Amino acid sequence: MRLFTVGPVEMFDEIKKVRADENSVPYFRTQEFSDLMLDTDGLLKKFAKTSVSSQTIYLTASGTAAMEAAIQNCFTDSDKLLVINGGTFGQRFVDICEIHNIPHDVISVPYGETLSERHFVPFQNEKYTALLVNIDETSTGQLYDIGLISDFCKSRGMYLIVDAISSFLCDQFDMDKYGIDAMIASSQKGACISPGLSMVILSERLVQERVLTNHFASLYFNFKSYIENFKRGQTPFTPAVGICIELNAALHMIDRIGLDNHLKHIADVAADFRKKAEDLPVHIPDFPLSNAITPIIFDEPIAFKVFELLKNKYGIFVNPTGGALHEKALRIAHIGQTDVDDNTMLISYLKKAIEEIREV
Ligand SMILES: *Cc1c(COP(=O)(O)O)cnc(C)c1O
Repeated sequence: MRLFTVGPVEMFDEIKKVRADENSVPYFRTQEFSDLMLDTDGLLKKFAKTSVSSQTIYLTASGTAAMEAAIQNCFTDSDKLLVINGGTFGQRFVDICEIHNIPHDVISVPYGETLSERHFVPFQNEKYTALLVNIDETSTGQLYDIGLISDFCKSRGMYLIVDAISSFLCDQFDMDKYGIDAMIASSQKGACISPGLSMVILSERLVQERVLTNHFASLYFNFKSYIENFKRGQTPFTPAVGICIELNAALHMIDRIGLDNHLKHIADVAADFRKKAEDLPVHIPDFPLSNAITPIIFDEPIAFKVFELLKNKYGIFVNPTGGALHEKALRIAHIGQTDVDDNTMLISYLKKAIEEIREV
């Protein structure tokens, strides 16, 4: 089995070894586990380029839970939010606002358009508390311009909430420079480890002005108890202990390689794939792309057939695409243990699959 998917991803051998070595998951209410979590936290903040005064919430839950919890801990029906919706994950933020009756306006980015200044124009004169964005809208692969978004928020004193689940540790990211107040990450995507753990890093001002002062009725998802417990490197409830250990190993691996080298490898593999894909009967959208993933759009409506054939006959997994592009688009991830030789292999199987489908 070979994964070219964005999450879970093809894991590094080094991380697989950490998983295998955990012949039993350790007990966690110990100084040793606290030390491991505090060590993880230092590296996480270093890579997110944020000050030690920011606060990380380690949630044992998938990325969507972290998105929902972040919104619920920070905003209420007295706020007004602005949501950038350019695909499935933007729509998820909209759904969260709707379910929890949080007033919001939506900047729609239709498929194929690049988010630009003109999308903000109709919202110029309205007052908003915060902006929500998925910086890599994984369903399309578009990487939005963080500078543009950050300027809009800074000039209006808005909080900026960034879902960086498929972008953090794949693309450049700088929490403090861009005034990001909450950044959401998840184990199975950018961190390239097992699913089950999500991280929300909160700016000091968001913690002080919102999280600690509001009244959010939830036991499991209330960030106040996570903040209190993390003073000693602990979580209020049993965390996904094994995945916390994987995360620590993954961050040390990146630290050893160097974050910039790690990001450059992903960018190089992505660029190599995009070049080699010129030999296929597909095109790649011209909006800015995250290094994490490349959408390929087929000339013929065979994308899902290609996905199934690669999976069933060759044990190769790529990401299918939901919605209107189901028969037209596949997405190829460039994160985890993968290199340019894997691209050569994948391209040859894609060619083979396309020919086999055309023959029937
Ligand atoms: C995968 C993903 C999510 C949701 O993740 P789950 O872990 O499936 O809940 C949210 N946002 C983005 C941008 C993603 O790529």
